[in-house]
Amino acid sequence: MSISPDSRTSNPGIGIHDNHWCEHPGCKQWGCYGFSRSKADKPIWHCSEHYPHKPFNRD
Ligand SMILES: [Zn+2]
Repeated sequence: MSISPDSRTSNPGIGIHDNHWCEHPGCKQWGCYGFSRSKADKPIWHCSEHYPHKPFNRD
């Protein structure tokens, strides 16, 4: 009785997320804040530093 290592299948396609980084030129940070003008538009992503739609930034 032998068990082949090929009998176990892996699923590399599971758990893939869309990578979205900050849209600010030169910025390499993760874009955790998304903004889209409409549902038809794809969202633009910014990091916390460059997100232009902060509710607390009212100038
Ligand atoms: Zn940024």
